[in-house]
Amino acid sequence: MATAEVRRSVESPAPAQAVPSGPSAAARAAHVERRARLIEQLRAAAAPPRLDKEISNLFRERERVPAARIDTRAFRHVLAVDPASGTVEVEGMCPYGELVDATLPMGVMPAVVPELMGITIGGALAGVGIESSSFRHGLVHETVLEFDMVTASGEVVTARPDNEHAELYFGFPNSYGTLGYAIRILAKTIPVKPYVRLEHRKFRDPEAYYAFLAATCDDPNADFVEGEIFAPDRLVVSVGRFVDRAPWTSDYTFEKIYYKSIQEREEDYLTVRDYIRRWDTDWFWCSKNLGMEIPLVRRLLGRERLNSRTYTRIMRWANRWNLGKVYDLLGYRSESVIQDVGIPLPKAPEFLAWFHETIGILPIWNCPFRAIHPHGFPLFHTPPGALFVNFGFWQPIRRREAKPDGWYNRQIEKKVAELGGVKSLYSDSYYPLDEFWQRYDREVYERLKRRYDPDRRLRDLYEKCVLKR
Ligand SMILES: Cc1cc2nc3c(=O)[nH]c(=O)nc-3n(C[C@H](O)[C@H](O)[C@H](O)COP(=O)(O)OP(=O)(O)OC[C@H]3O[C@@H](n4cnc5c(N)ncnc54)[C@H](O)[C@@H]3O)c2cc1C
Repeated sequence: MATAEVRRSVESPAPAQAVPSGPSAAARAAHVERRARLIEQLRAAAAPPRLDKEISNLFRERERVPAARIDTRAFRHVLAVDPASGTVEVEGMCPYGELVDATLPMGVMPAVVPELMGITIGGALAGVGIESSSFRHGLVHETVLEFDMVTASGEVVTARPDNEHAELYFGFPNSYGTLGYAIRILAKTIPVKPYVRLEHRKFRDPEAYYAFLAATCDDPNADFVEGEIFAPDRLVVSVGRFVDRAPWTSDYTFEKIYYKSIQEREEDYLTVRDYIRRWDTDWFWCSKNLGMEIPLVRRLLGRERLNSRTYTRIMRWANRWNLGKVYDLLGYRSESVIQDVGIPLPKAPEFLAWFHETIGILPIWNCPFRAIHPHGFPLFHTPPGALFVNFGFWQPIRRREAKPDGWYNRQIEKKVAELGGVKSLYSDSYYPLDEFWQRYDREVYERLKRRYDPDRRLRDLYEKCVLKR
């Protein structure tokens, strides 16, 4: 990114709420042509459609069932960036890494950018996307102003909060491609400054840590807020603020590791691009499971390959060859516990204490968020305005004692429900059918299914997310 370009744009901020200027005629025509080819593929599909994308951040292995692969790789174009209206118009399968690189030179970024750069904007809308700006802007879907969805039968509808497809607009988040595919999205952007100043506040006591986290979410000068828990008595709140100037900048895209710096530093400065990518280089802290913290391995791999896309490919390859099963041969029971769950902030200390005792995974990522739109989102409901904390933990648990399949994940599901929380569905879920539909609004979902997928060519949410079909 050219810093000078960003600075110029920041110095002359655009008036808010202008009408988006929209894509050029050529960009629009090319999109319409790609859309026509996609519709042809969908209409020709002899089996239930399944997205064929370059990479997926879904962490559940799916049963091998007949499916027609729908190639959507061409849907990655940024159609228009309009700093004046604070919007970006983009195709649904555009990865955030590319989207960010298209917006930063114009002095803006998407209001919420998930940490892993291979996540696509459509995936984050249909799943759930979160980041350290979610305490102010909500989850990714709250930053989406409208989207085009193509149904399995090849119709295209435009959903907005105020049109005849409003119920789809609110019901699409957390539907995971079971209603149709988002192929064009108009999303909010925010102006950036060239740098982010980070402050890492250390705590030993969870109550004090959560009190500070909550207070910071009410600070109008905080642009990014998140927490990291490294041990029961080592908790850190990281607060980011846009700044025009930086006395120095750190680089965590190659030899230095971001999560380690949090424990060592009180203050830090990153370029805005490096801030957005801070967790991608080491997949939060999960790259260590692949040996990526060994300096020689990092140097051999090179800066360009140190990222979540590389690790996802390695992981899929390892899964194909069942390499994780080596531990089973050594007498361990292994269960993958890769989850993000949202807990109401007042209950966060209770959840944390329970989690240390029952699950014991460290580190934990804590990201505050709140639902903004008063209507709410029925498939991922949290009361509008209420502050929640996302707990992200991603690790296998290996123990010698025998537990039923999914035991740890199921304990988490029960505790989250008991505390009035909500669980995302990108990974393994073990809910019984009835309980699942108590948590995710069946009535609204069935209405949407009848309207947009009446022949049930796409799988149902329970079948997909719990039964892994
Ligand atoms: C270890 C880990 C860490 C994560 N960390 C974060 C994080 O930090 N921040 C965050 O926001 N999220 C995070 N996620 C969750 C992630 O945002 C969701 O899994 C998201 O759905 C992935 O999007 P994707 O583009 O990779 O889609 P995919 O993984 O390819 O697909 C996910 C699902 O969405 C459907 N889908 C994909 N694209 C579309 C579309 N255009 N229209 C309709 N349906 C579609 C697919 O059919 C599929 O069911 C994390 C997930 C994991 C496993």
